[in-house]
Amino acid sequence: MSKPIYVTQPYLPPLEEFIPYLEKIWDNKILTNGGPFHQQLEKELCDYLGVKHISLFTNGTIALVTALQALRITGEVITTPYSFVATAHSLLWNGIKPVFVDIDPNTLNLNPAKIEAAITPHTTAIMPVHCYGQPCDVDAIQKIADNYNLKVIYDAAHAFGVKCHCGSVLNHGDLSVLSFHATKVFNTFEGGAIICPDAKTKQRIDHLKNFGFVDEVTVVAPGINGKMSELNAAFGLLQLKHVDAALARRKEIDAAYRAGLQGVKGIVCLNGGEQTTNHSYFPILVQPDYPMSRDALYQELKDHNIFARRYFYPLISDFPMYRSLPSAERNNLPVATVAAAQVMCLPIYPALSNADQTQVIEVIKRAAA
Ligand SMILES: *Cc1c(COP(=O)(O)O)cnc(C)c1O
Repeated sequence: MSKPIYVTQPYLPPLEEFIPYLEKIWDNKILTNGGPFHQQLEKELCDYLGVKHISLFTNGTIALVTALQALRITGEVITTPYSFVATAHSLLWNGIKPVFVDIDPNTLNLNPAKIEAAITPHTTAIMPVHCYGQPCDVDAIQKIADNYNLKVIYDAAHAFGVKCHCGSVLNHGDLSVLSFHATKVFNTFEGGAIICPDAKTKQRIDHLKNFGFVDEVTVVAPGINGKMSELNAAFGLLQLKHVDAALARRKEIDAAYRAGLQGVKGIVCLNGGEQTTNHSYFPILVQPDYPMSRDALYQELKDHNIFARRYFYPLISDFPMYRSLPSAERNNLPVATVAAAQVMCLPIYPALSNADQTQVIEVIKRAAA
């Protein structure tokens, strides 16, 4: 049998290109605590992404937890059940009650039309996700936030480099949080970041990720250790040199899937048309008019050594620490419930060969015949 094809494979630049970075670290012996690579990566990411301020983190989850603390969010936060579990976990880690609101059937992002009904006197913020890198309806969400005096923190873990109608999508809301985990479009092995619009907020975030220290002897908050190391930051600087090529290859693969799967009855490719995503994922819906169920197709691919993933199934609201919440009831979340039952993400990553991609498409077509 041919070698396994996974849903993603981390992008790694040629090893020899990383050696000079290591030599620098060995020379100056600065390993962490906002060293030169950390500072340089913050600057280069601001330029690349078109954002004002960025604070690097050890991972995206600690960045989400810290973003909520930076804005002193309490009470209830409206969020989506259709995401990676870290979105809602960051709320629980702050003693905040997640309130799940259903998603839009086309984008699978939080549905702005459903938000108002979920607002209570305890609501302080909205935490939407740019799912698969597809921008949320940022204007509609901001309008509601303004009307009810709510903060907006975007989980932008999938949205590296995504543009919308007015530049970087990361400039919307009060804060946006990125993940640089190995499986993401831009990775630093583990890593993350908070994007914020003003220097004062960045300073507070920088304090919070360093135990709350503001100087050698002053601690102003029960901060965490969320600092990105020099090793990870150096790797990020190298990755940044290759990221445009990686994104371009993803775009080709995305187009080839759409062409190859066109006309296959019961298979819907999401987020086509506008070309606003970064092709970080290739989600399809396996609908009832496809001859087998989503899970049967998932198994069929597996039998051919192709490991697709059912992102996002199960819904966050179905995990044991959430399912007793009133908002977690399935009849509150009908669109998300159907999406979680039909979705599957196909392999997409820069090193995916045309032959391997053709094999994925062939298995899906053959199973349909
Ligand atoms: C990956 C991811 C996270 C968590 O990021 P880590 O860097 O792995 O901690 C949070 N939210 C979403 C939507 C993600 O996909």
